[in-house]
Amino acid sequence: PHVTSHTLAAVKDADRKHVFHSWSAQALIDPLAVAGAEGSYFWDYDGKRFLDFSSQLVNTNIGHQHPKVVAAVQEQAARLCTLAPGFAVDVRSEAARLIAERTPGDLDKIFFTNGGAEAVENAVRMARLHTGRQKVLSTYRSYHGATAAAINLTGDPRRWPSDSAAAGVVHFWGPYLYRSAFHAATEAEECERALAHLADTIAFEGPQTIAAVILESVPGTAGIMTPPAGYLAGVRELCDRHGIVFILDEVMSGFGRTGKWFAADHWGVTPDLITFAKGVNSGYVPLGGVAISAAIAETFATRPYPGGLTYSGHPLACAAAVATINAMEEEGIVEHAAHLGANVIGPALAEIAERHPSVGEVRGLGTFWALELVRDKATREPLVPYNASGAANAPMAEFAAACKDSGLWPFVNMNRTHVVPPCTISETEAKEGLALLDEALTVADRHTTS
Ligand code: PLP
Repeated sequence: PHVTSHTLAAVKDADRKHVFHSWSAQALIDPLAVAGAEGSYFWDYDGKRFLDFSSQLVNTNIGHQHPKVVAAVQEQAARLCTLAPGFAVDVRSEAARLIAERTPGDLDKIFFTNGGAEAVENAVRMARLHTGRQKVLSTYRSYHGATAAAINLTGDPRRWPSDSAAAGVVHFWGPYLYRSAFHAATEAEECERALAHLADTIAFEGPQTIAAVILESVPGTAGIMTPPAGYLAGVRELCDRHGIVFILDEVMSGFGRTGKWFAADHWGVTPDLITFAKGVNSGYVPLGGVAISAAIAETFATRPYPGGLTYSGHPLACAAAVATINAMEEEGIVEHAAHLGANVIGPALAEIAERHPSVGEVRGLGTFWALELVRDKATREPLVPYNASGAANAPMAEFAAACKDSGLWPFVNMNRTHVVPPCTISETEAKEGLALLDEALTVADRHTTS
């Protein structure tokens, strides 16, 4: 592994003294110091390697240090590092064209941001101005980012400290058959009842007050609940009926993650706005954006759009996006993710679920999978309670520690672990990681009651 010029002690010391970390009680954390990364692996200062089954925060869809993307960023840096958003720039134009060619329907204009939350902020702003309405509907069990509107839209406990009654957000339940809010027994029933629930929510909130419905095409951090066939099309229909803007948040599910360019492609649904980030350039340089339909773009044809960011469409970020999308195309990375899901990860997880008493359900597609860990398969009681911390969360903490000890870096959220490796992971690496996961699950099994 690559050796850096800094000693482990210096890195840790300055981190503890000066870096204020996300989502953390600062005195209670001990961040792993990472010395380098390549492909599906990263390693620490002792040279211990971790196979990254989390793709960092589900963003390194092409793995670490892809040579074509590194070269593109280096070349762009040598040529032109930065330009204000008001100029037409070759690399920005090209990134927008490549993205617009892949988004469904007439979503042909791209507003660039620095990440996912800003994409959501701007999509909501566009929807409100386009409709002249304020309210936005989003689901419980969702994550849309940590800025003002985005955190209020979020349907998980991270919203609670920032909650604002003025935000104009109403939450509803999306489809999730394993823990159905509708007492449904089949996917078809879940779909029908979830759509009826949304129709009721719209009726009781007042359709004429609702600017947008925002959904993750496949909810990510909240549990990779692949929607039943017909659900997204049904939401599209409800939005059309009431003049509501349909926003699909593809920040996590976009750019190959599900084995298609966008998860919405699985169901042939075209929303009015798509938010993206993460996989658009695997996070090599921060980038996100909103893909905009012709009708919404038209609203701002002669009326100025009241939003902007100093680094919107940053040349380095756009160069990384162009090289990423081209590499994904040339190397068949989206197809590879689909192949892994159907032939490697999916079958292995189904087999793991059969053998482990702690695995209540596995679900997903492409390189986007969740294992729902339970105390008891019959009652489906979660292995740890919702939003557990400290001692109550010990079974999940022990499971995560077992993964890390064995050299597997897991994605863990509440009572779930997600299998979300880079879309470029080789079959051999995927099988190696799945074997380590299999082993670590014996730790979770010890906490089952059945
Ligand atoms: N939307 C979804 C679906 C996400 O998964 C995330 C991040 O995980 C965001 C929005 C926020 O993106 P960012 O952290 O880049 O602001």
